[in-house]
Amino acid sequence: MVSMSNETIFSKIIRKEIPADIVYQDDLVTAFRDIAPKAPTHILIIPNKIIPTAADVTTEDEPTLGRLFIVARKVAEQEGIAQSGYRLIVNCKEHGGQEVDHLHMHLVGGQPLGPMLTH
Ligand code: AMP
Repeated sequence: MVSMSNETIFSKIIRKEIPADIVYQDDLVTAFRDIAPKAPTHILIIPNKIIPTAADVTTEDEPTLGRLFIVARKVAEQEGIAQSGYRLIVNCKEHGGQEVDHLHMHLVGGQPLGPMLTH
């Protein structure tokens, strides 16, 4: 079991201890709207299990990591952006711009997103 010290605000969102606009939840993952959206659709899809960063994934996590993509597809359909397209982003650690140490996939869309990287 992962120690409580690895918990972030996202653990509380998964357990519904703090408010969040959850758009999907199952046994492996939870998806909720980003509190500071960068586009008309901006949803975070996260493992229910604490995996701090993309650098911490193991083969044991393969079903969960696969589920992130399946749920990204489903939520994109729910949001009506499947046809127009979207971007999936996983930031890792400091240079990747990761702010919350609980692995999360950003699903961003609803408008043209421009170049992938800006400084
Ligand atoms: P990252 O920079 O990849 O770590 O992204 C963290 C994301 O979490 C940012 O886009 C934040 O706006 C978002 N965020 C932080 N706290 C919350 C929260 N309580 N509810 C929803 N989104 C959050």
